[in-house]
Amino acid sequence: MNSYDVAIIGSGPGGYVAAIRCAQLGMKTALIEKYSTLGGTCLNVGCIPSKALLDSSHHYEDAISHFNEHGIEISGDIKVNLKQMIDRKQTVVDQTTGGIDFLMKKNKIEVYQGVGSFKDATHITITGEKKEEIEAKNTIIATGSKPSSLPFITIDKERIITSTEALKLKEVPKHLLVIGGGVIGLELGQVYKRLGAEVTVIEYMDRIIPTMDSGLSKELTKVFKKQKFSINTSHKVKSVERKGNEVIVKADDKKGNEVEFKGDYCLVSVGRRPYTEGLNAEAAGVKLDERGRVEVNDHLQTSAKNIYAIGDVVKGAMLAHKAEEEGVFVAETLAGQKPHVDYNLIPGVVYTWPEVASVGKTEEQLQENKVDYKVGQFPMRALGRSRASMDLDGFVKILADKNTDEILGVHMIGARAADMIAEAVVAMEYRASAEDVSRMSHAHPTFTEAIKEAALAATGDRALHV
Ligand code: FAD
Ligand code: NAD
Repeated sequence: MNSYDVAIIGSGPGGYVAAIRCAQLGMKTALIEKYSTLGGTCLNVGCIPSKALLDSSHHYEDAISHFNEHGIEISGDIKVNLKQMIDRKQTVVDQTTGGIDFLMKKNKIEVYQGVGSFKDATHITITGEKKEEIEAKNTIIATGSKPSSLPFITIDKERIITSTEALKLKEVPKHLLVIGGGVIGLELGQVYKRLGAEVTVIEYMDRIIPTMDSGLSKELTKVFKKQKFSINTSHKVKSVERKGNEVIVKADDKKGNEVEFKGDYCLVSVGRRPYTEGLNAEAAGVKLDERGRVEVNDHLQTSAKNIYAIGDVVKGAMLAHKAEEEGVFVAETLAGQKPHVDYNLIPGVVYTWPEVASVGKTEEQLQENKVDYKVGQFPMRALGRSRASMDLDGFVKILADKNTDEILGVHMIGARAADMIAEAVVAMEYRASAEDVSRMSHAHPTFTEAIKEAALAATGDRALHV
């Protein structure tokens, strides 16, 4: 039987990154993945394919809506070739997952293909084409998550679909109903909106992206309405029915009146659930919490002391970069180091256009915690860079402590916010004050000037260009 210092179950961004770091630190490492490609949800049916389709559909929208104004004339029809778009997305996925195979070989990590299942706390059975057993001194559970649904919905994977199917549709829906105005619903909703679908979002809470700062929800709603999305907040979905090629969603609105929505496809995007099926966690003494997540302490250690868990299968944000940080954390803990993850500084991004990005505390959280804070906000439309590219929507908002001026949260919506948020993370990691950021030179013309201007606005109304 093969023996390892560490075995990792699941090859998503949590698992494969943990494997690389363990190998770098000199541990004999095995990685177990039940699917034939590595990379988990993120690389196969999550972050990477969704961004590939967002990029392709953005090009199409630019071509049909903005090229003329830029003085670019195209003769003949501009058409979507959905099959080519989906094929290109798959090529990007294949190249990316292939890159993980290369990294595993480079780091001498042994990869097993099959379902990993605990026999006891130090033995794992792997059921793939053949059945094997390995021994591991330590194990990291990184089994991720799957789409969740509502009890009365039958996902038929044809017309009533999750994100996985939405990434490989064979036609552009005429009318896509989206249940859940969170990250997946809005990103994939925007892909099909750009390609010509009518898109109706049905959200239970009183605003879309309800976990982010409410200013971002408000601005994104405004922009999405301009883009002709139908946004229905405070709607409680109570039935989803398919009749031939039609899907009928019934919901109660805020006043309790029944509203009916009809479309030809319905994307169910109401969150994801931790995935532990087939793991046989109990055999190893690993406890799950009341929400089916693997229960961990502050060191990401489970109720079995040689078994750790990371990523979507444990508490916290379901984000690839959070899973990665936790993978490195556990690897370094196993090597006897004293690593640290600052969960307050894990940024959240929605890759719609305009992009939405956040780090630190929201205004709602500061109010709830009775923190005295001040706000500096700057509109993107006041920047020369925004006018040059015609990306006028959005703003940068900086929340700083009223007494110390320390930056407590940064929330932005606008072109390239996904990349710009990194500046806020660095500033907050070093506990910068708003004044510190306001005195740093930002290249002109760039979108990042909005960060400097928002910091100026936070330090006594000193913004220069409004
Ligand atoms: P996963 O990536 O889910 O990987 C778990 C792996 O474990 C899977 O490959 C699974 O097959 C395997 N596995 C499970 N059980 C077993 C077993 N018993 N034996 C062997 N293998 C097993 N996050 C971002 O940060 N940015 C984004 O832009 C983003 N976009 C997304 C878009 C979509 C459409 C979706 C669905 C998700 C997106 N996410 C994004 C979330 C991101 O994909 C997850 O947070 C991330 O993949 C979690 O990583 P993980 O390693 O914990 O688990
Ligand atoms: P989400 O939690 O972002 O959004 C789910 C939405 O559904 C919420 O707004 C919620 O209020 C709503 N909802 C819940 N029950 C409902 C009901 N009965 N009727 C109507 N609305 C209802 O979840 P998601 O969009 O499914 O994404 C799942 C996970 O994947 C998220 O945790 C997210 O972090 C991750 N993800 C991240 C990215 C990114 O980082 N850009 C992209 C996609 C997915």
